[in-house]
This record gives sequence, C-alpha cells and structure tokens, in this order.
Amino acid sequence: MINQSIRFVARSPMFSKLVTLLEKLERRPNLLRVLTYHRIDDPDARPDLDPNLVSATPSQFACHMEHLAQHACAVTVDQVLNAVQHQTPLPPRSVLITFDDAYNDFLEHAWPTLKQLGLPAVMFVPTAFPSQPRRFWWDTVYQIIRECDAPHGLAELGIATVKGELPAQTYRRVARELKTFPHDELLMRVEAMSQRAGLPEQDSPVMTWDTLKDLAKQGLTLGAHTQSHPLLNRVSAITAVDEAVASLRELQSHVPGVPPIFAYPGGAFSDEVVEGLREHFELAFTTCRGISDLGRADPLRLRRINISRQTPGALIRAQMLAGVRHFNRRWPLESAV
Ligand SMILES: [Zn+2]
Repeated sequence: MINQSIRFVARSPMFSKLVTLLEKLERRPNLLRVLTYHRIDDPDARPDLDPNLVSATPSQFACHMEHLAQHACAVTVDQVLNAVQHQTPLPPRSVLITFDDAYNDFLEHAWPTLKQLGLPAVMFVPTAFPSQPRRFWWDTVYQIIRECDAPHGLAELGIATVKGELPAQTYRRVARELKTFPHDELLMRVEAMSQRAGLPEQDSPVMTWDTLKDLAKQGLTLGAHTQSHPLLNRVSAITAVDEAVASLRELQSHVPGVPPIFAYPGGAFSDEVVEGLREHFELAFTTCRGISDLGRADPLRLRRINISRQTPGALIRAQMLAGVRHFNRRWPLESAV
C-alpha cells in the first residue's frame, strides 16, 4: 500500500520536476549509486521464465540509460577500485550499472543501448550456468506452477495448495518457502518436482562462454556471482567462500583480467562469509538499498538500488539523489533473505 502510494506520487509531473531540480544541485563527490538489473525484455517474451526478474522492458531500459548518459556520471569498476584503494574520489553523480545472472536477453536488449551511449556496465555471472543445459531453480518452479494450473496436479507434485490462490501467488509462496532450506535440499526438492511434472528439457536462458568472452572483449566487465547461485546463508561459510572464489577463478580462466569483484546471490550473506571473502575480493555488492559513501563504506558491503519495471523513472532517479544516503540508516545493511 505504501509502495503503491509512493509510486502514485512519483508519477506526477511535479515530482519529476522536483527531482530534476535536485539533480542539478548535486555536487557531492565519492558517493556511489549502483543500479541492479536482471533481465531486460518484454515480460511475456519468455513464458517459461519468471517474469518478476524482468527489471525493465527494452524501451524502459533505453529511457533509463539515456537519462544517465545526459545527467549522471557512469563510472567503471576501475574507477570504483581507485576510489577505494587510492582514495581517488569519484566525481559527483557517479553511477555503476550492474546486471546479475547473465540472462541472454542482455545481449539483444541491453548491450546495444549501452554500447550506443558509451556506458560502462558490469555483469555478475554464476559460472556453473553458461554453456550448460541447466536453468535457475526459480525459473523451473515458475514453469511447473504455470503449466500445472489444477490444484490436484500441484498436490501430486508435492506443492501445498491454498484455496483461491492465483498461480503467481502460489509461485511466490513456494519460492519463499524453498529459500528457507539448505541449498542442496532446495535443489533436490526442485529436481523432484521437475521430474514428477515431466518438464521437458529446455535451452539454458544464460549466455554462453563464447558470448560472454566476446562481450568482455567489447568492454563489458565481468564479476563473480558464485558457481551454482546458492544463497550464502543457506550453505556453510566455507562452501560460500569456495563458491565465490571458484567463480572468480573460472571467469579469469575464460577472460584474463577479470577484477576481484563479487555480488551476493539474492543479497544473502553473513558476517562470517564477508570476512572469508575479504582476502579474495576488493569489492562486493549486497542488495541492501541505498547509496554508498566510499570514504566510509565497507567495500565488501556496498549498497545497490534494485530496478523494477513497476518503479516510475522519477522514483529511480530520486533514489539516486545524494540526500537519499541519509535514509541508509533506515535501510540497514542486513542479509536480504
Ligand atoms: Zn543472482
């Protein structure tokens, strides 16, 4: 309800004008805004994939990027590393554009826009997925529930049903429940559901290594995102660090020079995991909302601004205003799951 009210206000021309005025007053250096995108596509384009991960349609994405190109300073990972390691402050209105999970719609709908506008970007890759016939567990669950709309069918697959629940609600509930299990158990449960549902083999929705290597050659920065995309508070801290480091090594074996940067899958972490990563990584990105002041922030707990296609453009811009960092205290740096 609060979100709906905020979105309603953010759609008004007055709100947009106010944000534009405040943007013009931005002078403070060394603040980092990190935008998080997942998929860029029309939500109906891939009915076999969870549409909640479509961060923006291609036209929304183009609008966001055109605004950044004109009114912000899109920075590279090297600039952020310099700011952290050598106290070289970032310019005012710095923004890092990031993508998680390496879905292949990036190639068709995001990269051409980024390239045309000359904007640098980072892709965090779960390295067990490129060039493999495997899908993310959430897409499998989404497809099972979407294709099995009869309640008795869901019960046969071991999925509890709630009277009157819509498939989208069932999916959200089941996904939420699955995230509470240890990662191995979650995968076993999804595999069992998939076999019982007789789901056909599907192409991987993730870019191949050849594509990723080609994009890296053209200027896309790659970053580690574990191998199998576990929530890092649903595996042991040793496994979490091993997964993160192995994904970095794998990326570096394909693309020499990949920087030691990491994004926590699903935003899940623990203090123990963060400390375990410290000797291997220079930067790590949470899903905790807000802006990071690089003079003060822990470089292994940087904040991000998640982009959703339901969020009005003016509200995304408002979240990037320097003054918003004062709200960070209200959005604590806690594991997201
Ligand atoms: Zn991810």
